Amino acid sequence: IKAVSEEIMELTEHYGAHNYHPLPIVVSEAQGVWVKDPEGNQYMDMLSAYSAVNQGHRHPKIIAALKEQADKVTLTSRAFHNELLGPWTKRVAELTGKDKVLPMNTGVEAVETAIKAARRWAYEVKGVADNKAEIIAAKGNFHGRTLNAISLSNDPDATKDYGPFVPNIKKVEYGDGDAIAAAITPNTAAVIVEPIQGEAGIIIPPEGYLKAIREVCKENNVLFIADEVQTGFARTGKMFACEWEDVVPDIYVMGKALGGGVFPVSAIAANKEIMDVFTPGSHGSTFGGNPLACAVSLAALHVIEEEDLAKRSLELGEYFENALNRIDNPEIKAVRARGLFIGVEFHHPVRKYCEELKEEGVLCKETHENTIRFAPPLVIKQEELDWAIEKINKVLSK
Ligand code: PMP
Repeated sequence: IKAVSEEIMELTEHYGAHNYHPLPIVVSEAQGVWVKDPEGNQYMDMLSAYSAVNQGHRHPKIIAALKEQADKVTLTSRAFHNELLGPWTKRVAELTGKDKVLPMNTGVEAVETAIKAARRWAYEVKGVADNKAEIIAAKGNFHGRTLNAISLSNDPDATKDYGPFVPNIKKVEYGDGDAIAAAITPNTAAVIVEPIQGEAGIIIPPEGYLKAIREVCKENNVLFIADEVQTGFARTGKMFACEWEDVVPDIYVMGKALGGGVFPVSAIAANKEIMDVFTPGSHGSTFGGNPLACAVSLAALHVIEEEDLAKRSLELGEYFENALNRIDNPEIKAVRARGLFIGVEFHHPVRKYCEELKEEGVLCKETHENTIRFAPPLVIKQEELDWAIEKINKVLSK
């Protein structure tokens, strides 16, 4: 007799497009850091849906907010006002220190929104000639899957046979502030970077990089867009990863954990001078800023603060990093960590480690071929982390 999991995976393989290569596990229940398959086996989630589940699976306060709002109204579209868009935009504006917030749903939509804002700003405020606006991006980036976002990418897997791409994009080495300075022209609208590159394998830029971008953008009247979709909301031990260098970007791009692992919620935040380039009819989304999303997101933000998840990420991240550094395996090339945002790079592919860890009850995923990412929900307890470290030691020490 086939296990339920096997049947589900076969069905998905049969009818679903093969645009992912998931580990062979079906997750059918989840709570906090733990998930279960249909057979009742329990695993610890060390991926957090690529950092979207920072608050832990089904956080009771977030689920309560979801249920409460579901009993009132879930979707209005922006044709009408809803009660929660005001309080939610105020909350996100206060959090980012920006004047205004524009809601979207997925991370890549927020990236699109930021690029569109920057282009309009370049034409309408900076005075760049029509169709000349340029964007500077960093090599190795991941900003999402739309054509605009992959036009920023230099990853062959993400871009092959999808052209023609969005023009006027320059791609420079990540971590090199001088390269950005050299790429800027009078037509440059914005520089977009991840404060730490997540999908590239938790690549932490050299100290001073974000400050250098901040300065060079200011000097040249260019917008600094920080894609904090993955690094934001306490993942790296600060609310936003830009805080590691005390830097404030012109546009924050946010997603993932903004929705508390429950609902897709994304946004950009920027000051009036930039956000006012949007006028009615110029941009939008049917689902962006819907009441359910706002209710969930307000609760998600509340949980991050109430449980001081940034501090927890910082402290447990350091502890985890030290434990990983003690693993005796010559195949480990580097351990890179900022809070509970950790990459362990090997000299060879790591898929087999992920599969072995799964057998031990720890779920994680390779990023590219050679790096294992460990990014558990930030609500993880010390004893839960210790349990995982023991398993990780066992698998990675051989
Ligand atoms: N930006 C960054 C930095 C990301 O890590 C991701 C997702 N991994 C995205 C954008 C895209 O987010 P989404 O998948 O929600 O579109």
